[in-house]
Amino acid sequence: MHEFDIIAKYLNLNTTPRKDVLCGVGDDCALLKVPQGQRLAVSMDTLIGDVHFPADADAKAIAHKAIAVNLSDLAACSAEPAWLTLSLSMPQADEKWLAAFSEGLSEMVEHFAVQLVGGDTCRGPLSITVQAHGLVPQKVFAQRSGAKAGDLVCVTGPLGDAALGLLHYKGELAASGADADYLLQRYLRPYPRVAAGIAMRGRASAAIDISDGLLADVQHLSNASGVGVVIRWDQIPLSDAARAVADQQLIKRAVLTGGDDYELCFTVPEDQFEATQKALAMVGEKCIPIGRISGKPGVRVVSDEGDINLEKMGYRHF
Ligand code: ADP
Ligand code: MG
Repeated sequence: MHEFDIIAKYLNLNTTPRKDVLCGVGDDCALLKVPQGQRLAVSMDTLIGDVHFPADADAKAIAHKAIAVNLSDLAACSAEPAWLTLSLSMPQADEKWLAAFSEGLSEMVEHFAVQLVGGDTCRGPLSITVQAHGLVPQKVFAQRSGAKAGDLVCVTGPLGDAALGLLHYKGELAASGADADYLLQRYLRPYPRVAAGIAMRGRASAAIDISDGLLADVQHLSNASGVGVVIRWDQIPLSDAARAVADQQLIKRAVLTGGDDYELCFTVPEDQFEATQKALAMVGEKCIPIGRISGKPGVRVVSDEGDINLEKMGYRHF
């Protein structure tokens, strides 16, 4: 199959067009209209076969994840997703794979009302790069650097599921039935918290999406803000499927250092907490407090039995 036929059949998606796309797939450039008073938020992530996802995974799930991880970055900046570009490298033109991939792209594009407006297609090892473009009003961009001592640290959902799902996929965790399915889906099909990101506009003082694991990402946020963080282990939300895992050390490691959950971690001044929780609930999203920003540098996780030894969790301070 020729490159142009692939683009026409599988990448020029037949999805609802956006009015702000003056020119999409088919020309040398896409031409896009940024509304007055809005800023363009741009983010890019690459997924490489057998590095970031199992290369033999369902192509529909791969498409889902490639878009989800990018929309998650926009969500962390309270941006509303608008346009995507896609660079696709694959070893051969497998039409069955492309059809499933295209279907996965279309589903996500429709769900989040975005448009795939261009990209590049070439032969090579399986690799997918998506660039997501979002819109955000000028004054509400929550950066990693805005956290202040006393702010509450919150997350949008349970942590550790994706890491446990990956272990299950690799045959290293004996989960079964509905729990196994749930964990696997959380790994393969993360759901970007776009609505939560938009709902926290003007309220969250700082935000980041959890792609590398809670501790690592909280550390990024606290470094950028020049503050410390105290997390309460008992307050971190865990799914029933994660709770069902018998090995307590494994759970702790998955929750604290496992990546790929794509929940948001954000900080809110205490007097904004209730309003933020309400605003997120209005759009069906959660705002779960798990700790507090402190003036003392460093990341601590405290439990009823005292501080959790983070080095033992395989966590390196940096
Ligand atoms: P050019 O030769 O100008 O670089 P291409 O032949 O690479 O153009 O692409 C033709 C058109 O198809 C362009 O509009 C490009 O944006 C679009 N396109 C190519 N690959 C993809 C892709 N993977 N996803 C979406 N659009 C694509
Ligand atoms: Mg050209």
